Amino acid sequence: MNINLEQIRKDFPILQELVHGKPLVYFDNAATTHKPRVVIDAVAEVYEKYNSNIHRGVHHLSNVCTQAHENARIKVQQFINAKHCHEVIFTRGTTESINLVASSFADTFLQAGDEILVSQLEHHSNIVPWQLIEKRKGIKLRYIPINEAGELILDNINDLINSKTKLVSIAHISNALGTINPIKEIIEIAHAKDVPVMIDGAQAIQHVAVDVQQLDCDFYAFSGHKLYGPTGIGVLYGKEEWLNKMEPYQGGGEMIKTVSFEGTTYNELPFKFEAGTPDFSGSVGLAAAIDYLQTIGLDKIDQYEHELMDYAMSKLEAIPNIRFIGTAKNKTSVISFLIGDIHPFDMGTMLDKMGIAVRTGHHCAQPVMQHFDIPGTIRASFSFYNTKEEIDKLAEGIIRIAQLFG
Ligand code: PLP
Repeated sequence: MNINLEQIRKDFPILQELVHGKPLVYFDNAATTHKPRVVIDAVAEVYEKYNSNIHRGVHHLSNVCTQAHENARIKVQQFINAKHCHEVIFTRGTTESINLVASSFADTFLQAGDEILVSQLEHHSNIVPWQLIEKRKGIKLRYIPINEAGELILDNINDLINSKTKLVSIAHISNALGTINPIKEIIEIAHAKDVPVMIDGAQAIQHVAVDVQQLDCDFYAFSGHKLYGPTGIGVLYGKEEWLNKMEPYQGGGEMIKTVSFEGTTYNELPFKFEAGTPDFSGSVGLAAAIDYLQTIGLDKIDQYEHELMDYAMSKLEAIPNIRFIGTAKNKTSVISFLIGDIHPFDMGTMLDKMGIAVRTGHHCAQPVMQHFDIPGTIRASFSFYNTKEEIDKLAEGIIRIAQLFG
């Protein structure tokens, strides 16, 4: 079950670029992924052949564009196995999807004293929206702590999910450490207490097959740009029964049925949550990305990325004074580490001069860094277009830089 790496690398034009005169080695895939030619072409085709504002158009181009956008919705529905295509809301990305749920769920269901449960592993975009609601509504934000391996400690989960808890919102996979959280187990525990669960899938959707019906999550959020699709498009999956009850997030065109100064009625799903002109070139590009990934096969991608991570671990483990941050048993292809007392920023800047792109810093997960009492890490995150030779270059680069630092 091998992937055709040579062909795959040709599919991504940017991988042929040189950085500082060196072949690009891109290990910043958790921040954003590159785009295959088919995605770039699909977006260009929208603007070249049928660009037109969608829905309610009477003319040809508007109908073609509407059809392409709505076909993209069906593509996403099938990709995540949602029961209905109106359960797929197009947003700007994971951040907007979470803010949408935080705001609309709070307006409809939350009162002072209620609790929302997240975890210590979350990206800021699954913390700060809830803190805004904390201020707005007087609710309390609580979190599941993590252990020294960067795994959730579920020992007190029955206290943490209690009669005051109104929603649990948890990352499927941690962006800072790569930990894969036991979301199925958490969903079952929460549902046994009638508490809905939102999953931040920003780091999972590109690595593992997601079936929202099998998971039985109430909401699932992800971004197109981390899934080899365009920037500016994302998805919020929500169960119909929740979305129907929730207040709209933003007001404007598209989300209404009738408007008068006496009162306004809202459109049906999914449009109730899609105020304004949607990103129809983004949705079409996202559909092309999903097609592309499905042609390769998510199972093959998952297997190859694990192979890459195991290889990278074997290479990096041999480096003197390396300290891995996040050593969960169940991990995806993200490795966070420190080398002696070299500042991550210095290491990242010097690797860049060798054409190697890694991310350094707190990765928008400051509570994780606080837990480990460090300012940040160096993070290498892999994609199926990376190679073992590139990992060799990373390991050699780190050793050279560490020697320079003595
Ligand atoms: N959640 C996680 C786990 C992430 O890794 C990210 C981005 O890195 C986000 C949310 C935010 O995604 P976006 O910036 O695409 O909205």
